[in-house]
Amino acid sequence: MNLRIQTRLTLWYAGSLTLLILVFGLLIDGLMQRRLIARTDFEIDEELQELELEVRVARDRTDLMKQLELRFGNHESFEFVVQSPAGEPLFVSRRISDRAQAQPLTLAGKVTPYQSVRLVNLGECRIGSQIAESPVGPLSIAVVLPLGRSLAELKDLRLLLAIVSPIVVVIAIGGGYWMSARALRPIDRMIATVSDISAHQTDRRLEVIHDDELGRLAMTLNAMLDRLRNALKEMRQFTEDAAHELRTPLAVIRSTAEVALRHSRPAMYYEESLQAIVEEANRLTDLSNQLLILTREEGGLHVVDTNENVDLGEIVQNVVLDFEALAESRHVRLNSQVVPPLQVAGNADRLRRVFLNLVDNAVKYTPARGSIQLDVECWLHTLEVVIRDTGIGIAPEHIPHLFDRFYRVDTSHNRETGGAGLGLAICRAIVTSHGGQLTLRSEVGVGTEVRVCLPRPARAANSNDSASMRIYKLEEAEARSL
Ligand code: ATP
Ligand code: MG
Repeated sequence: MNLRIQTRLTLWYAGSLTLLILVFGLLIDGLMQRRLIARTDFEIDEELQELELEVRVARDRTDLMKQLELRFGNHESFEFVVQSPAGEPLFVSRRISDRAQAQPLTLAGKVTPYQSVRLVNLGECRIGSQIAESPVGPLSIAVVLPLGRSLAELKDLRLLLAIVSPIVVVIAIGGGYWMSARALRPIDRMIATVSDISAHQTDRRLEVIHDDELGRLAMTLNAMLDRLRNALKEMRQFTEDAAHELRTPLAVIRSTAEVALRHSRPAMYYEESLQAIVEEANRLTDLSNQLLILTREEGGLHVVDTNENVDLGEIVQNVVLDFEALAESRHVRLNSQVVPPLQVAGNADRLRRVFLNLVDNAVKYTPARGSIQLDVECWLHTLEVVIRDTGIGIAPEHIPHLFDRFYRVDTSHNRETGGAGLGLAICRAIVTSHGGQLTLRSEVGVGTEVRVCLPRPARAANSNDSASMRIYKLEEAEARSL
């Protein structure tokens, strides 16, 4: 059933209250009945003792009958019966003898001392009986107390409960409905505010009135809205930057083609134009590939299999080989101490991409006669590849933004060296997804140092690869220096 929370709360409230009142009423009724019985039994007992005393101390049958008639013949509240053990009545007080002649009281031989019976003329009664010794032998004596007055009191109480309980339940339903409406009003307000917040109006926030559950819900929603707004902002920025990056090569392609088509020209001119167009198209392909890689890395689409071990030494060595010719043509010395075997847990293609980007940066931003040095530092659970260059360096204010997408220090878009500014963002995403860390230190005019810290596979930590040998030496050196 699809009931509103308010209705459900009210129904629960009314149901539990009705049940409570019912249980409470039954308890009170039972308690009052027990108290009534206990009180009457106590009073009957007192009277029984008096009757028993009278029966016991009588001198003979005549004296007994005289005393009984005198003391118990016309009692205000109680009735008395004295019988022979065989059931023959010796003495019966007046109200019983007057009105209940037709109903012989056979109390003799009753085992239970007290019991409730219904007598024709006296109605509901409580009777207490016992055997008493007398000058004429053992006699069965009984005291009868009509319960009419006490039962009327009990009836009044039941009537009161029957009238008051439904009124209380009705008031409770009304009160419950009002209270739940009041308690749920802030939620209605929250719903209204949240549905007002759209992609274009992301600054509105929920009001936090009290530090209660609803206040905390509002704070949680506000925090979520903040994160959503930031994500939206980032997404917009990303789309804007990507569009901006795509625009330049597209414009170059378009204008080159338009100029070539304007007049008929010699074949060589067309060749040059087409070459320029291919160059720009390559640039576009690179950019779209980079964007694809970044989106996949950041979206967590690549799961790193930590059981897959790769030789980082081999990867770095191959990357250095790839760049050797370029570095030489720029008169930059490229030197590497990173040699196989160096086991790390991860994916070879993606780790190769990291070092391609980093060595590419070092080569791009190191002027002639500079040098690039690659080293490895081995720790018990990690490997750190350090790439140091003596390049142009980076000013401190740029360093915190270097890993942002499309961030370049030189925004003048130098088409010689300038990439899209995605390289470091991709590197960090890949290293992070390998459970590692990428850090960068730089000084303008001195150079840049990039550290790639990657976890070593558990098995390699005890093996005989070159990293383990080196770490041993390192730890020894550390211990000595301490
Ligand atoms: P892409 O890598 O996408 O082709 P990019 O190299 O410009 O383009 P990143 O690799 O992300 O982009 O680097 C961002 C910026 O950081 C670069 O534009 C450059 O200014 C600066 N930078 C990176 N590495 C170095 C370095 N070794 N020396 C000096 N500046 C660097
Ligand atoms: Mg780069």
